[in-house]
Formats: sequence, C-alpha cells, structure tokens
Amino acid sequence: MKKVLTASCLCKGVKFKTLNKLRSVSNCHCVQCRKTHGVFGAYTNIKDKEIKFLNKTTLKWFKSSKNSKRGFCNKCGASIFFKVDKSDNVSISAGMLDGKTKLKTFRNIFVGSKSDFYQINDKLPKYKRFAK
Ligand SMILES: [Zn+2]
Repeated sequence: MKKVLTASCLCKGVKFKTLNKLRSVSNCHCVQCRKTHGVFGAYTNIKDKEIKFLNKTTLKWFKSSKNSKRGFCNKCGASIFFKVDKSDNVSISAGMLDGKTKLKTFRNIFVGSKSDFYQINDKLPKYKRFAK
C-alpha cells in the first residue's frame, strides 16, 4: 500500500496525512460505534505521531468511556477518530481516507453487540468482544 494517504471529514475542517502504513481495517460492532456511526465502525489504526494534521480547526473530542475518547468534526458531524487514552495509537474511520486506500478489512469485533437489522456476510474472523 501507499505510505502517505490524505484524509478529511466532509467539510475539510479536519484534514490530515498518514505518514506510515496503516493497519488493515477492523469492523467494530460495539454499541458506541453504532451510536456514533449509525452502523458499525470501520477503523484502521496508526501511531499518533504518524499523523500530520493539515487542518484541525473543527476537531473536538468526546469522552466516550472511562478510558477512551472519540474525535469528531463539530461542523459537519463526521466521526473521525477513536482513541484509548493511554495508547500511542489512534484509530481512524477508514471512510475519511481519500482515493484508493489499498486497505483490506480483516476482522469483525464486538459482534456480540451488533444490531439485528444487518447481517455480517463476510467470512472474516469474528470476535465476541475486543481482539488485540
Ligand atoms: Zn467537518
């Protein structure tokens, strides 16, 4: 895959480059992802220091649990990041990435919390809760 990708929210109030390879995409079906994305969340992941912000004027963080927070755009409403407080990494909503990503989805997590209005029809590994 390409090392440097650009990404932004819908209004471009949050815009950044990724400076290293991204992890494959993990679909998260937890209740929090459902509530913020409307359906499951599709997240890639990278080290904090491997993101270079080009704009973050509308980036806000919402403390979504005791040890994590979610980054969103306070203008267009995009759900952009998921961050565990003590981690050096940040998860990025894969839909923010521009153009061809060459990424693949590799798993489903928190499938025990998924809603019943959709099916997981892929053959990827499914984890009841979190998977390292
Ligand atoms: Zn925006």
